[in-house]
Amino acid sequence: MSTPSVFSGPVVIVGGGVAGMVTAHLLTEAGAKVIVIEQFERVGGLARSYQYDGFTFDCGPHRFHTENPNIKTYLDRVLKANTTAFPRLSEVFFEGSYYRWPLHPKNLVQLPLPLAVKSAIDLAINGSKTYGTSNFEDYVLRQYGPTLYENFFKGYSIKFLGIHPKETHADWAKVGINRAIIDDKLQMQNLAQLAKSTLLQFNKAEINFIYPTGGGLGITWEVIADKVRAGGGRILTSTGARLAGGNGRIEAVYAGSERIEPSLVIWTAPITLACDQLGLEAPDLPYLSTLFYNVMVEESVKKEYQWCYYGADDIVFSRVSTPKYFAHDTVPHMGATGLCVEVTCREGDERWVHAERLTDWVVDDLIKVGMISSRRKVHDVRVERVPNTYPIYHTRYPVELERTRKALAKYENLQLAGRTGMFWYNNMDHSIENAMQLTRKLLRESGRAEIDEKALAAGMAG
Ligand SMILES: Cc1cc2nc3c(=O)[nH]c(=O)nc-3n(C[C@H](O)[C@H](O)[C@H](O)COP(=O)(O)OP(=O)(O)OC[C@H]3O[C@@H](n4cnc5c(N)ncnc54)[C@H](O)[C@@H]3O)c2cc1C
Repeated sequence: MSTPSVFSGPVVIVGGGVAGMVTAHLLTEAGAKVIVIEQFERVGGLARSYQYDGFTFDCGPHRFHTENPNIKTYLDRVLKANTTAFPRLSEVFFEGSYYRWPLHPKNLVQLPLPLAVKSAIDLAINGSKTYGTSNFEDYVLRQYGPTLYENFFKGYSIKFLGIHPKETHADWAKVGINRAIIDDKLQMQNLAQLAKSTLLQFNKAEINFIYPTGGGLGITWEVIADKVRAGGGRILTSTGARLAGGNGRIEAVYAGSERIEPSLVIWTAPITLACDQLGLEAPDLPYLSTLFYNVMVEESVKKEYQWCYYGADDIVFSRVSTPKYFAHDTVPHMGATGLCVEVTCREGDERWVHAERLTDWVVDDLIKVGMISSRRKVHDVRVERVPNTYPIYHTRYPVELERTRKALAKYENLQLAGRTGMFWYNNMDHSIENAMQLTRKLLRESGRAEIDEKALAAGMAG
């Protein structure tokens, strides 16, 4: 089925997150009439920022890393020189101590002795064992052995995702763990590989991440929104989009009282919501949601990490990040610290509804893990409820997702995109790449001469 031309009427983009805003920008530059509909007051989606009392927070830690030269070109064009670059500084809190994350082979020797010895024995004999391939548990056992699985990965995974690693698809481990590790392709299946990896890691230069200066990550999408408006596009905020379908097409999109007849709809909101609005069978594709406790502290914290994972059952949060180690302008002065504390839940559950009740527990646990010295140092705590932060990859998700995509593909002018729209555990660079590939395809199918992503990234789509 060929997609309708983007020049035959307005292109409606549902969702003003990374994928929606970059697609809107590139299509506007190519001369299409674009209307973005975003349910929240500000654009940015999961990559938006919050400001209060001189502190800036994102939705958890966000830093850019990409090896794709087109994405680098695009970000340079949008952010100009307003970025800062830094090496990774992540940690994991385990049995009362902090360790560097990802687990470097060289850090394994710093683990408590019995654990280090057991892990080494596992690795020595792991190559001779056979594991399945389908679920998270199998994947981690094969990669790291039973000791590290039991001590690091199992508890954290249950606490974070709310389902057992046996019920979790191996894709969750592949994208989650490998992405957190990013460039450190550690070979840990046996001792010989581990030794080799360790030697290679010692002399390796750290990769750099980038982060915008001047107002948190969210500024990136505000800059892009200004470019869309300047190019004649519209951005409707604080209004949820509603689809009306018929005859294999999306016939109208409603934004408040406005009815728009689109040539094409690019849908980056939850895939489940598209099914619901079009009266299709509800897919079993659940999303995780996150409560962000943005804690403003009047002191310099002892641990200078960008973020740290907390897997223990007796600590309420699963991760804490420190925006000032991304960019100094996220705090009113360097003696103050913002701590972004994440607690995962499901939208509408007990935690979601009564999130404020956990605030004292969050502060007490920050004291317990040594991040703040006393309650008196806490200037304020603001709670943000963010739905649909992660797709939950249960073991049946590939079949369910395929069935849902097929059902939605019957609408000739509906295109899914982005993390939430495609039920895709991705990063910002993937959503930008997705926007570039989609724009290229849409322009080609609209009769435009072939334009590659390099030219799109450089702003030569017009
Ligand atoms: C805690 C956390 C940490 C992360 N850390 C990193 C990191 O360090 N580096 C990195 O590269 N990536 C990171 N990511 C991933 C990154 O945030 C995403 O890849 C990216 O923001 C996805 O953008 P998107 O536009 O594809 O999806 P989304 O941001 O989900 O955009 C969907 C948009 O649709 C809107 N919407 C929903 N329903 C409607 C409706 N009915 N009408 C109108 N609008 C609607 C939503 O409000 C949202 O704006 C992280 C994600 C999370 C949750």
